[in-house]
Amino acid sequence: MIKMKKNTIPDLVVINANELITMDTKFGCPRIGNSMTELGIINDGAIAVKDSDIIFVGATSELKTIYEFSKIKTVIDATDQLVTPGFVDPHTHIIFDGSRENELEMKLEGKTYLEILEAGGGILKTVTATRKATKEKLVENGLKILDEMMSYGTTTIETKSGYGLSLESEIKSLEAAKQLNFNHSMDVISTFLGAHAVPPEYEGKTDEYVDLITSKMIPKVAQDKLAEFCDVFCEEGIFSIAQTKKILNVAIKYGLKPQIHIDEIMDTNGAALAAELNAIQTGHLLKSNEMGLKAMAQKQIIATLLPGTPFCLMLKDFAPARKMIEYGMPIALATDLNPNCWTASMQMIIVLACYNMKLKPSEALTAATINAACAIQRQDKIGSLEVGKKADINIFNAPNYQFLAYKFGGNLISKVIKNGKIVVDIQSVRMN
Ligand SMILES: [Zn+2]
Repeated sequence: MIKMKKNTIPDLVVINANELITMDTKFGCPRIGNSMTELGIINDGAIAVKDSDIIFVGATSELKTIYEFSKIKTVIDATDQLVTPGFVDPHTHIIFDGSRENELEMKLEGKTYLEILEAGGGILKTVTATRKATKEKLVENGLKILDEMMSYGTTTIETKSGYGLSLESEIKSLEAAKQLNFNHSMDVISTFLGAHAVPPEYEGKTDEYVDLITSKMIPKVAQDKLAEFCDVFCEEGIFSIAQTKKILNVAIKYGLKPQIHIDEIMDTNGAALAAELNAIQTGHLLKSNEMGLKAMAQKQIIATLLPGTPFCLMLKDFAPARKMIEYGMPIALATDLNPNCWTASMQMIIVLACYNMKLKPSEALTAATINAACAIQRQDKIGSLEVGKKADINIFNAPNYQFLAYKFGGNLISKVIKNGKIVVDIQSVRMN
């Protein structure tokens, strides 16, 4: 859909883009199979923005015939540059306090996850710190993370609670997420993940903790409208298939939409459960069986792949992305930003997806934009550059999209436009 609206003076235009990636939804939404490589590229591309919306997408020569340049407040010349939709990061855990950098040396010494946990590390270290932190501290931490994410080109995120694991601390975490959405230009969509781990006071009593989630936490989250989605960490030894089902069925009853973390460490038949529950999206899927993947493909449930996690855990296996594409599964990419996998950069995730899961750069960019928007049900507003959509736009110091996976380890962003406003403007560094 490439249209124009005449008799309007845009607030901002981007012109002369060497490559403008529209991610036009006429190629599918979400994209599957070969359509993941259809980027809707316009060479010498241009975009016009009025208020927070896109009013024109097309060639620079065409744009120049429509609008009078002298009246436009902001003209961005994107000569030799790449323009894409803002990245959407549909799976993160940014509400936490503290950090766990010391665990890297323990991992390098060959310590297992359980040994790190016994030494006072792991998720419970983050839970202890997050419980102690005030809501204001969680907001302060989150604002810094959002600034960093945006500097790498992310304009919308989903984030989860899950380091509180008590009624009070889970509510505090979700209130912090809501506050972040108000205080920062980033759009922040909230997910309740009370079932992230079993807290120490419920050790050996997982069913009792599940009861607390279903009888107290979910009703409170729904009543206070603190989350749109509900997620569960379904894994052997954490929450079983039956417990996951129980939690998500109650969540659905209260109007929360289901998501699941599945089959990260071993195959628990989580993919089949995701299909059965019509989950909106699922995370990880490293070990899922073929039947489950095919059931998800049939229902077009989005597989959000998180290659940062196996990278940080030093695993050899990544999610079988090529097989998923072959099965016609819609794939999205996300950072999974959390204290054990701390990257704010979707550019880094695109690199990991290409080098470790063998996605093509075009497929990875699709997974980080339009398909990621579908994973959080925001495809009507974001994920592509089309008339009527939000003006969330990235401009890269790169001539084409292949550079996003080719030139790695830095930040290729030149400018980020969010809701029609320039929010990141990285000047070139000169030392002389
Ligand atoms: Zn996660």
